[in-house]
Amino acid sequence: MKNKKPLKDRLALVTGASRGIGRAVALALAQAGAHVVIVARTIGALEELDDEIRTGGGKATLLQLDISKGDKIDQIGPTLFQRWGKLDIFVGNAGVLGPLSPLHHVTEDAWNQVIDVNLSANWRLIRTIDPLLKRSDAGRAVFVSSGASSGKYAYWGPYAVSKAGLEALVKTYAHELADTNVKVNLVNPGPTRTAMRAKAFPGEDPMKQPAPEELVPMFLELVSPDCDFSGRVVGFAEWKKHHASTDA
Ligand code: NDP
Repeated sequence: MKNKKPLKDRLALVTGASRGIGRAVALALAQAGAHVVIVARTIGALEELDDEIRTGGGKATLLQLDISKGDKIDQIGPTLFQRWGKLDIFVGNAGVLGPLSPLHHVTEDAWNQVIDVNLSANWRLIRTIDPLLKRSDAGRAVFVSSGASSGKYAYWGPYAVSKAGLEALVKTYAHELADTNVKVNLVNPGPTRTAMRAKAFPGEDPMKQPAPEELVPMFLELVSPDCDFSGRVVGFAEWKKHHASTDA
């Protein structure tokens, strides 16, 4: 029989929790009973989320961090280990869009920032949390990719490359975890009503895109101990279609 409250008392770490998709997922995890470590640079937004979580009777720990600062990431594993001894759930959501311009106009700084945040930070996070996920009875990680990873859009170069690299990184990690209790997957959210989407498509009516909250059930399913697959890219559109047909 399936556990009715599979996320209760589990320890979760969510990057990019100050707004958008990461905030919605972190809040939902807390509402489902998980203790959530919320990571971002904007401390005021983290404090607001913390208030909302506590008002609802949930538990959160704030971690103000720029994930492009590698040495700071390396401290996460030992810090979590000291306090909790394990990590059950990781959501690697933080991301930046970077410049939307021809490749030959991209500056070195802009290139490095997108690769550092969207790709290298996730490798460093894997490195520091891997032993902790393995100490959980059912470690689950979800990383947020994008349809741009296919490389089919002109002017999305750094972002597309970072997400393609992220997909290869997580699929490789899934193979390395084959004999463990840990499952790792990626999601492709599709267009979602957030600050990043508004930056990429300033002329668009934001209300035409789904709110981040609509993605939450997909994330909760993938971080649940019941998730039994690894190494996949789960697209929100396909996930929704599948659930519409199986739930009917
Ligand atoms: P937002 O811009 O709304 O949120 C991005 C989050 O990442 C913020 O919480 C931000 O926090 C955090 N972040 C950015 N840089 C850093 C950094 N250096 N250190 C720590 N945290 C950082 O974007 P979305 O919610 O839209 O995006 C979430 C994920 O979904 C991203 O990976 C994005 O690529 C992906 N995605 C989004 C789509 C969409 O349509 N919205 C479509 C496809 C994929 P802060 O600024 O406080 O540090």
